[in-house]
Amino acid sequence: MTKRAWIENHYGVPEISGPDLIETGLNQAKKQGAEVIQDSVVNISKKDDSFELTTSDEKSFQAKHIILATGVLVELGEKLGVATIAGTEPRIKKIFKVDQAGNTNVAGIWAAGTCAGVSVHTIITAGDGAKVAINLISELNGERYVDHDVLK
Ligand SMILES: Cc1cc2nc3c(=O)[nH]c(=O)nc-3n(C[C@H](O)[C@H](O)[C@H](O)COP(=O)(O)OP(=O)(O)OC[C@H]3O[C@@H](n4cnc5c(N)ncnc54)[C@H](O)[C@@H]3O)c2cc1C
Repeated sequence: MTKRAWIENHYGVPEISGPDLIETGLNQAKKQGAEVIQDSVVNISKKDDSFELTTSDEKSFQAKHIILATGVLVELGEKLGVATIAGTEPRIKKIFKVDQAGNTNVAGIWAAGTCAGVSVHTIITAGDGAKVAINLISELNGERYVDHDVLK
């Protein structure tokens, strides 16, 4: 959805197009060491203590934890057995059932943003993604995680 948006209500950003917001975010993630792969995930299956993701380019990836952030689309999670409920936000039909931390009913599968039922505004969906990621990193580290840089 963000690709179609013109945004004047993202706190701290006077105005920005959806594509520019996405590109800025991807560049920030890359600067922090993220590898970005542009592909569609067609299936997720459970393999022992991890998950295997397969893509439309017939590549596969292993992951112990996955955050679903698939916007209005929930079929990928449903195929894996992730529970859904009716959406509460305007025009959002179905969402993943998550607890306060962002966990779904399938251990290791988390959900964030529109597909997790939060209000469909960029500052909220992006913030929800950050919240769930911090909860996931905290679980992996065994202690609450915080990422603060200090003004020099
Ligand atoms: C026309 C329009 C105008 C808007 N204007 C505003 C505004 O002014 N202010 C505001 O705050 N918000 C606005 N919004 C809403 C804002 O864009 C949403 O809050 C935001 O897009 C939701 O983000 P999201 O990450 O949950 O979903 P999305 O932005 O929809 O992102 C989901 C992503 O998951 C990907 N995906 C889904 N399934 C798969 C799969 N199987 N494999 C790989 N990738 C997959 C999709 O390709 C997509 O990139 C607007 C939305 C629209 C449509």
